[in-house]
Amino acid sequence: MTDITATDFTTDFTTDFTTDLTAELTDRLIRYCAIDSQSDAASASKPSTAIQLDMQRLLVDELTGIGAQDVTLTDYGTVLATIPGNAPGPTIGFLAHVDTAPQFNATGVKPRVIRGYNGGAITFPDAPGLTLTPEEFPYLAQKTGDDIITASGDTLLGADDKAGVAILMTAARHLLANPDQPRPTLRLAFTPDEEIGRGVDSQLPADLGADFAYTFDGGKLGEIEFETFSADIAKVSIKGVSIHPGFANGKLVNAVHLAAKIVQTLPHVTLTPETTEGRDGFIHATDMNGGSSEMEITFILRDFERDGLAQKGALLEQVCATVAATEPRAEITCRIAPQYRNMRYWLEDDMTPVEFARDAVQAMGITPVSVPIRGGTDGSRLTEMGVPSPNLFTGMQNIHGPLEWISAQDMAVATALCLNIAARATG
Ligand SMILES: [Zn+2]
Repeated sequence: MTDITATDFTTDFTTDFTTDLTAELTDRLIRYCAIDSQSDAASASKPSTAIQLDMQRLLVDELTGIGAQDVTLTDYGTVLATIPGNAPGPTIGFLAHVDTAPQFNATGVKPRVIRGYNGGAITFPDAPGLTLTPEEFPYLAQKTGDDIITASGDTLLGADDKAGVAILMTAARHLLANPDQPRPTLRLAFTPDEEIGRGVDSQLPADLGADFAYTFDGGKLGEIEFETFSADIAKVSIKGVSIHPGFANGKLVNAVHLAAKIVQTLPHVTLTPETTEGRDGFIHATDMNGGSSEMEITFILRDFERDGLAQKGALLEQVCATVAATEPRAEITCRIAPQYRNMRYWLEDDMTPVEFARDAVQAMGITPVSVPIRGGTDGSRLTEMGVPSPNLFTGMQNIHGPLEWISAQDMAVATALCLNIAARATG
């Protein structure tokens, strides 16, 4: 892209402009993180927890207050809004998720700001002994002088993905306050339940109405992610033969032993999340429930390629069949269902959204980095459903635990990227 207007904006974005955004982003992040909006995989309701709606109602009020149009809280718990365009161009969607991860305590988050970080170890008031050090987390060393935001030690921070929310709200506020700043029509979506894989409702692509979209749910500066895992879930159920242990000789078939056999027969030193990295997939036993008469084991299967995923499913089925053959009186079934697919399958046919973001990042003097995500995003499902949606950086680090942190200056650059993408889209 060689559009002169866009280049001028780019210069603004990388200098004093981002400094001005930092205070607003910090204020928003602190306010949003203090609201508990944790999702819950065990809940069948939509959204999975009612507390996520506290966050959503706040966003509806704030979006209305800054003059966004079509502000809606849908019956599936997503907040949608429009920033009207002032120039032709594709309709671009920007997404962030409001839920925080169920893996760690998210109640009573007390965010704090370490202004002008001195490059040393960071300690936590509510967890003596817990330290965040640049030696252990080298990216922190690069952020000396920045404003670092963390929780207080006994909760996660929730920058995943309140940082994305703060970035989009700040960008929206800026665009609505500066109606001359060029942009096509922009659509905002704040989704619930991303962390439990239920962020994208079947209605969302139609309701969003975007040609393509970006999720702001990534990590380090420069990251543009367009490859996610492909994911299946498997439920293995084992029915034994139940009888009083006092009369069990030759009759009892213990489902616990058969479940253990299945887990034990699967490879442990390869093909597990704890023994793989990079582009290798895995079979992960996430939980096992039941008793001697009946057991159920849940596995998640992950791979970047369709073939690799199918092979993992076939291996699991083969192990189940092998164990079943050792005990014909037991009944062992293995049901495999798809969860999400690698967004690359669709994006490689048309890399425009990725190249668009890459150009915008490069124009800001930052080197774009694309590494495959060993997980999924709302964008995985959205892309599969027809809205190509790569994932962009926010700055968030050490997510889903008490050492989570983010630099306010990284968030400012991500906000500038959002504005830059909007400006360049009109070129
Ligand atoms: Zn996230």
